[in-house]
Amino acid sequence: MVASPTYEEIRAAPKALLHDHLDGGLRPATIVELAAEVGHELPVAEPAGLQQWFAEAAGSGSLERYLETFVHTVSVMQTDRALRLVAAECAEDLAADGVVYAEVRFAPEQHLATGLSLEQVVEAVLAGFRDGAAGSGIRVGTLLTAMRHAARSMEIAELAVRYRDVGVVGFDIAGREAGYPPTRHLDAFEYLHRENFHFTIHAGEAFGLPSIWQAIQWCGADRLGHGVRIVDDVTPGPGGGAAGARLGRLAEYVRDKRIPLELCPSSNVQTGAAASIAEHPIGLLHDLRFRVTVNTDNRLMSGTSMSREMSLLAEAFSYGLTELQWFTVNAMKSSFLPFDERLAIINDMIKPGYAELLA
Ligand SMILES: [Zn+2]
Repeated sequence: MVASPTYEEIRAAPKALLHDHLDGGLRPATIVELAAEVGHELPVAEPAGLQQWFAEAAGSGSLERYLETFVHTVSVMQTDRALRLVAAECAEDLAADGVVYAEVRFAPEQHLATGLSLEQVVEAVLAGFRDGAAGSGIRVGTLLTAMRHAARSMEIAELAVRYRDVGVVGFDIAGREAGYPPTRHLDAFEYLHRENFHFTIHAGEAFGLPSIWQAIQWCGADRLGHGVRIVDDVTPGPGGGAAGARLGRLAEYVRDKRIPLELCPSSNVQTGAAASIAEHPIGLLHDLRFRVTVNTDNRLMSGTSMSREMSLLAEAFSYGLTELQWFTVNAMKSSFLPFDERLAIINDMIKPGYAELLA
């Protein structure tokens, strides 16, 4: 029996993150500062209380209320300076948590309230990531998100491709799943395919298998944002676990094709997609060797970090550093960086980092 890793070991271990929202990871003190500058009224005016308010609103069990918390973060991210600062702090916070590679996503169309252009928004965020990553050893790739209820996905897809050589590595769609199937945005996905670009789709979080099926088989997503409901297509074995489990055709396809699942345990518990960390399907999906990755989703709303997500899993499923390395290598293999760059991070940072901790 391997001793479970300490929090400090997990923090020191190199980690890779594929699913993190820029507007879900602000520092509470920064929200307070920026809100004062623009006159935005917050539900609580001091950082510790505000942090608590976010956690409670996000923990209410409803995806709708969870999404409401973003009104406040997005409201204070409407200027070049604010976007650049928030992005820089994001990179700094991830680096301090031992993240060596992160893909952070945001929706440019949500940051136009004071007259910035889509290009100015993207350039401010890219500059912020460069500021925050400087000298820390973290590499940050950006995903541009289009909102699934809106009608700008083609424009945002074109924007992502235009900035592909300066930090944007992929595209995503996010927002309310109910009533807004990904097939509404087929023209954007077809365009991205023709451009040989990469994208992920939020699917299989609040909604089940039809949403995952559409994202994969109609839209051709490279990865699934969440995708946790793929377990609806898995019949556990007689003991309730992976031994003797049977996969339906969609689950089998997802596993056979090594389609990455961007699982976000704490976020799923908050939105009600899983009852608890211990009951989260990540345990079964790991045992069945799906291409599972561990992610934060919204660090502010969930009061979390990569180290915290990993330590919750280590505790709930008795994972050691070997499993945490497996999740990390999975994430790096699934990143939207070019293959040689992924390999370099795995071989030069992740493997040596874990080897040192395992020695
Ligand atoms: Zn998300």
